[in-house]
Amino acid sequence: MQDTMTNKKASQRMIELEEKYGAHNYHSLPVVLEKGEGVYVWDVEGKQYFDFLSAYSAVNQGHCHPKIINALTEQAKKLSLSSRAFYNDSLGEYEKFITSYFGYDKVLPMNTGAEGVETAMKLARKWGYEKKGIAAEQAKIIVCDGNFHGRTITIVSASNDPDSRAGFGPYTPGIISIQYNNIDALKKVLEADTSIAGFLLEPVQGEAGVVIPDEGYLKACYDLCKKHNVLFIADEIQSGLGRTGKRLTCDHENVKADILILGKALSGGTYPVSAVLANDEIMLCIKPGQHGSTYGGNPVACKVGIAALTVLRDEQLAENSERLGKTLLAKLIELKNEFPALVKEVRGKGLFAALVIKEKDGKGAWDVCLALLENGLLAKPTHGDIIRFAPPLIITEEQLAECISIIRKTLAAF
Ligand SMILES: *Cc1c(COP(=O)(O)O)cnc(C)c1O
Repeated sequence: MQDTMTNKKASQRMIELEEKYGAHNYHSLPVVLEKGEGVYVWDVEGKQYFDFLSAYSAVNQGHCHPKIINALTEQAKKLSLSSRAFYNDSLGEYEKFITSYFGYDKVLPMNTGAEGVETAMKLARKWGYEKKGIAAEQAKIIVCDGNFHGRTITIVSASNDPDSRAGFGPYTPGIISIQYNNIDALKKVLEADTSIAGFLLEPVQGEAGVVIPDEGYLKACYDLCKKHNVLFIADEIQSGLGRTGKRLTCDHENVKADILILGKALSGGTYPVSAVLANDEIMLCIKPGQHGSTYGGNPVACKVGIAALTVLRDEQLAENSERLGKTLLAKLIELKNEFPALVKEVRGKGLFAALVIKEKDGKGAWDVCLALLENGLLAKPTHGDIIRFAPPLIITEEQLAECISIIRKTLAAF
């Protein structure tokens, strides 16, 4: 007994600890990580992996980017939190930096992505009443089927994924869900209802499995929103910051969202930092005391945000994503042709790609991910049959080629 206890691998012991003492709200792959650098992570047994999830695109700049870590640690030693009861010497600098980076009048700083989405929804409702003249309590927000915007009650009220939603009612009213990538569906609701404040969407649906709408969809949605005086709200928490090959996915169609929501890679995976950007006409609808967050806009987050965005620009990560994304997609299409019994479909935009796996003999995406893990590459299935590939955007051509050969070898063994 004693022997088996001590001989147990360190990772197994840690997994058991989580199982015993942690809530069971995740189904993690059986690997315990302890170190990360660039495109690599290492488990507690010292095995090295390519990270092809990048913490759901929070680590676009690569693990432990020295410039971001330096900003984090330097500020943490000086002042970590002032609260917004007082001013701090980092917030104004950050606000000026991020608003000029994205071209908006104002930013509202929050921490998690879900808080950013909640903020955008509150802002849209407030604007709807104050500027659009929607009757009290009538404002509605349109969302898309298959969305993922986070985990709060209002956000799961906007979800049509049974796992996210079921058992958490009663739900927040005032939300209409329409089919994604369907302009006519949007047109129909906008024409039928004059109490709509905003249309909230992911320019590429990440959690749904890298679902990429048709070219022209974003622009057509934006134009329809303008026509009906409805705010176009882009949740670029996962699709933004270089992931799809441009600074923002909306940039592919020269669309500037009325409300832009950022998170995840806004801190390069070091700290929870989210932001909502809008112009004065919208943002100033929220007045002192009407919204906030204890940690939102804290000095560490501000310094980290500046560093993370600076790295993105200086290291031309969107450009690298665009360039290597083309290679990744071309290679994945080759793999689909090579393994048609296993790969049903391939999608990709920049370094944001997905394989749709055909289940065979009861084995599917989960088993492919276990085999990838065994072969030194970490990816996570989403919605059962889809594997998302989203490496850090600092990946080099050589590293990508190595990863593709790992993926090929893994698929060939099935
Ligand atoms: C991850 C994600 C969120 C939620 O972010 P959290 O930081 O987990 O709250 C919201 N929207 C999109 C598109 C996301 O990918």
